[in-house]
Amino acid sequence: MAVNNDSALRLISLRRDDEAKWYVASLSNNFTGKYPFIWLRDNCQCSECYNKECLQRETFTTDMDPDVLPAAQAVTNQGAVLEVVWPDQHRSRYLAEWLDKQRFSESEIDPVSFPDYQVWGAEMSGKIPAFDYASILSTDQVLYEWLRTIQTTGLALVRGAPQRQGVVRELAERVAFFRRTIYGEEWQVESKPNVSSLGYTSKFLVLHTDLPYYVSPPEVQLLHCIEQAKGKGGENQFVDGWNIVRQLKAEHPEAYKVLSTVPVDYKNAATDQYPFHMKLSRPIIDFDLRGELCMRYNDPIRAPYMLMPVEKVTDMYKAIKLFNHVIYLPQNVVHYRMTEGEIITFNNRRLLHGRSSFEVQTGNSRLLEGGYIDWDEVRSRMRVLREKLFGIERL
Ligand SMILES: [Zn+2]
Repeated sequence: MAVNNDSALRLISLRRDDEAKWYVASLSNNFTGKYPFIWLRDNCQCSECYNKECLQRETFTTDMDPDVLPAAQAVTNQGAVLEVVWPDQHRSRYLAEWLDKQRFSESEIDPVSFPDYQVWGAEMSGKIPAFDYASILSTDQVLYEWLRTIQTTGLALVRGAPQRQGVVRELAERVAFFRRTIYGEEWQVESKPNVSSLGYTSKFLVLHTDLPYYVSPPEVQLLHCIEQAKGKGGENQFVDGWNIVRQLKAEHPEAYKVLSTVPVDYKNAATDQYPFHMKLSRPIIDFDLRGELCMRYNDPIRAPYMLMPVEKVTDMYKAIKLFNHVIYLPQNVVHYRMTEGEIITFNNRRLLHGRSSFEVQTGNSRLLEGGYIDWDEVRSRMRVLREKLFGIERL
C-alpha cells in the first residue's frame, strides 16, 4: 500500500487508552475519533480478514477477544496509516482516510437513511414537485432527485408518461421491483362490477392509507392516470401525516394519546386474485422500528369487532371523529386532479389520500394503474446512485 500523496489525510496524534480499550486519533482534517481495539480487530482490512470483492467479513466472532489489547502500534507512511500488531502477531493496517469515514452513529454516515422532512399543508396545492417520465427512465440524476423528493416531501408527480398500462412497472423496475400484495403487483383502479374494494367503484373515497392490516403496509405508492373521468369529479386529496401528528400533539394531546397507543382493528375479507382474509390490531398513528410514521387509517375496513377494553370504545370513537375533523381542515388538504399521462407517487405510510366521486359516462371509464415499492429497495437504489453520481464510496 503506497501512500505518497501530499494531500492525503493524516493522523496528527494517536493516544492509546488501555482502560477504555480504544485509541483516540486526531486527523489532519480536525476530526478526532475513538476507535475501540476489538472493533479495529473485527474490521481488519487485510485479505485474510475481509473480502474486498463482496465487502464481507471473513473473520469469526468465536475467535474474538472483546478485551483484546494490541501488542504494538505505529503510525507510518507520514501519518497516512495506522499499523496495529495483535497478541497473536496478526498485523492490521488502517488508512487515515478509512478511519475518517467511520462513525458510531448512522445519521453521520448515511443521509439516505435519515432524510430531512419537509412538512406541508394546503400550500402545496399547485406546487407538487414534478419530474419528467422519460428523464427518470434515461437519467440517473433525475431518478435520484425523484426518489429523494418522495423521501423528503412524501409526494411527487411524474409527467409525460404514455397512456397505456405497464408504465408503473417500468418505473418500479427502474428502482428495483414491485411489492406484491393481495391485489397483485400492479392493479387497475376503475369502476367495475363485483368489486373487491370500494376503490374499484366511482364513489367518494375518504382520506385513508392503503392496506393498514399488513404488519408492514406498502410504502411508496405509484398511481398512473391512463384515462381520467370526462365528466365531473375524480379529483384526489392528499394530507401530510406529519402535519397531522404535529397538530394533534399540540392541540389535542388526549386524542393523540388514544390514537397513537390504543390499537384499532382492521379486517379485509374478500376475493381478488384469490380469497383473502387479512386482519390486524394496531394504533391509527403507528411508528415503525426506525421511528418513521406509519399511518394506519382506513375507515371502510375498520373491523366491526373492537378488541379493546369496552370502557375505551367511546373514547376511541371521539378520537377517530376528531382525527377526521383535523385531516379535513382546509389548511391541511392538497387537492389535485390528475391529467392523463401523469403518475402521482407518494409515501403511503406518511400521507393520507382520498378521491372525489366521479361521473361514469358511456364510452368513457376512468382508469388508473397502481403499484407499490418498498423503502428498502428505494433506499438501496439511492445509495447505489449516490456512489455512481457523487463517487461516494460504500462503507
Ligand atoms: Zn487481518
